[in-house]
Amino acid sequence: MGAALVTSLSDLPIRGDLRGRSPYGAPQIDVPVRLNTNENPYPPSPELADDLARAVREQAVGLNRYPDRDAVELRAGLAGFLGHGLSGDRVWAANGSNEVIQQILQAFGGPGRTALGFEPSYSMHPILTRGTATEWISAAREDDFGIDAGKAVAAIEEHRPDVVFLTSPNNPTGTALPLPVIERAAAAAPGMVVVDEAYFEFARTGTPSALTLLPGNPRLIVTRTMSKAFAMAGTRLGYLAAHPAVIEALLLVRLPYHLSSLTQAAALVALAHRAELLGTVDRLRAERDATVAWLRGKGLTAADSDANFVLFGRFSDRRAVWEALLARGVLVREPGPPEWLRVSIGTGEEMAAFRAAMEGAVMEGAA
Ligand SMILES: *Cc1c(COP(=O)(O)O)cnc(C)c1O
Repeated sequence: MGAALVTSLSDLPIRGDLRGRSPYGAPQIDVPVRLNTNENPYPPSPELADDLARAVREQAVGLNRYPDRDAVELRAGLAGFLGHGLSGDRVWAANGSNEVIQQILQAFGGPGRTALGFEPSYSMHPILTRGTATEWISAAREDDFGIDAGKAVAAIEEHRPDVVFLTSPNNPTGTALPLPVIERAAAAAPGMVVVDEAYFEFARTGTPSALTLLPGNPRLIVTRTMSKAFAMAGTRLGYLAAHPAVIEALLLVRLPYHLSSLTQAAALVALAHRAELLGTVDRLRAERDATVAWLRGKGLTAADSDANFVLFGRFSDRRAVWEALLARGVLVREPGPPEWLRVSIGTGEEMAAFRAAMEGAVMEGAA
């Protein structure tokens, strides 16, 4: 075979709007302390694992058949978990909230349409937007990473986006939005408004959910996931709550049988064990607040966080700090905003390792 036959991506007839784009790429490095993708550090108990194995065993003998295409039992279970008077016909589930968001963009975005988000925020929103040939419009958050309601309304009125993303608590900053900001954005938006509440369970007590705004807002969608507080990132289960008509729209674009029977069974087991799985949230919140206080005590800046991670800085050479931490076995994240790093909240032991690694990085002169 000659070298001329070697094909690289740039030789392929890929869509022009995907040329030069980078894929999502949080490094998956095998180090002792992984604090870079906001997972819950506490694994399921052996009892839960046994229940999962039993549920998978029950499904195994029926794997020659397609799963329930509409995941009726799971959606009813998720609705019961969410409360707010929701029922299964107002809840939709897919393989992670990423797939839920992709389906929203397939149905409400697309060529000639736009989606607007307030950055810095979750990097997958623009990636999924562009993947569905929707144009991404970036609006700015304030210096404290909040969203100014007046400016948000102005940006929405200027661009008239088909989809608006509001992430609360926001990733990578940890910032939760007051409900009036969401209400005013929703009132101004001509299209769909997606409130990404992936980290809602970690919000400080009293933080209201956008679920309370669903009645009377048929163009509002609230997304959640089992990947973070629920400690089930490997299961790939995300979900949303919205008006039943929104779910009818998603049925038009979803793949048939998109949620495997094994995934549906695992998610039902997770729901049955919700007390155990969510039982670590208080511990993680306390560890988060302690981490913010410790970083500030060291003279660093740390953003207030309603999530299970902390954005901290500011570093003129954050790469040097990231590498100094990695050299000590601690993997953190270099998120969107330059000069900042993001650390996911791990176990008490892992956070002690993070603090020790930070001390080491400071002594070395990296931080
Ligand atoms: C982690 C995260 C998600 C979760 O994605 P899944 O596909 O459910 O694992 C969604 N939104 C934000 C803002 C996140 O940080």
